Amino acid sequence: MLSISFIPGKHYKRAEIHDQFGGNRQRGISASAKESIIFIFSGASGTQYGYSDGWNEEKTLFMYSGEGQVGDQTFTMGNKAIRDHVNHSKDVLLFHREQNGLYRFDDQLTLIDYELKQALDRDGHPREIIQFIFESATIMKQDQLESEHHLESSVIIEDSLENLKTLALQDTSTGDESIQVKQIKVRKRSEAIKVYARKRAAGICEACEQPEPFEASSGSSLEVHHMYKLSDGGPDHPEHVAAICPNCHARIHRGIDGSTYNQELIDKIDAKENPFRFRRIY
Ligand SMILES: [Zn+2]
Ligand SMILES: [Zn+2]
Repeated sequence: MLSISFIPGKHYKRAEIHDQFGGNRQRGISASAKESIIFIFSGASGTQYGYSDGWNEEKTLFMYSGEGQVGDQTFTMGNKAIRDHVNHSKDVLLFHREQNGLYRFDDQLTLIDYELKQALDRDGHPREIIQFIFESATIMKQDQLESEHHLESSVIIEDSLENLKTLALQDTSTGDESIQVKQIKVRKRSEAIKVYARKRAAGICEACEQPEPFEASSGSSLEVHHMYKLSDGGPDHPEHVAAICPNCHARIHRGIDGSTYNQELIDKIDAKENPFRFRRIY
């Protein structure tokens, strides 16, 4: 399950994606029933409501109109899934329709904001539509790597485990701030999760339980692995990540026993995070 990854620019048959991951085969927004993934299948029809779906010039933000062809669009089904994806720890993967049922994988997205806009439906009646504003998770990741390198994140490194967890779990979907402010909020949350995992590990690999193999110039050589996810980027939940040594990380992703080893890690983190779970029975 963890070896699956989509390659940007590569074409995939939509039917095969659904064979593997489930999810609705027709809708533009399709949530997998098997994995924490929401697929967006962007077609050519995005401009029909007067708002075009697509990337901004810098290719950092992606605009996407919600689903629903008639009447006001509401936060149900796919629209709700998208709105809540950060707090529900789901990856959003963007595909573009090409031809013959083929879709090109573009990028992983993180929702930053949404706006309600006035538009006309297909019968010419005025209605409200949702326009989602996403950030490219790839860009976000690159920026975070850079800030990690420059130790700009030291602001939160000094925080307590409990404070970091609060920051990592904070709801980023509310508020009237600008997109820039929301971008910072989402990034900060995502960064807090990494700092949290490393702090919880306290210099010991959470998989093999050996001291970290070397001292990294950035402070820690432990890598943050997302145990339930397709990719190691985007927003997540503190209990879904582990700080592990590069060796264990490679074993999980490329080893013959990778998924068993990952399952062992899931159990270890669960025991760490919920130490009293089994005592409650008595
Ligand atoms: Zn290890
Ligand atoms: Zn990983």
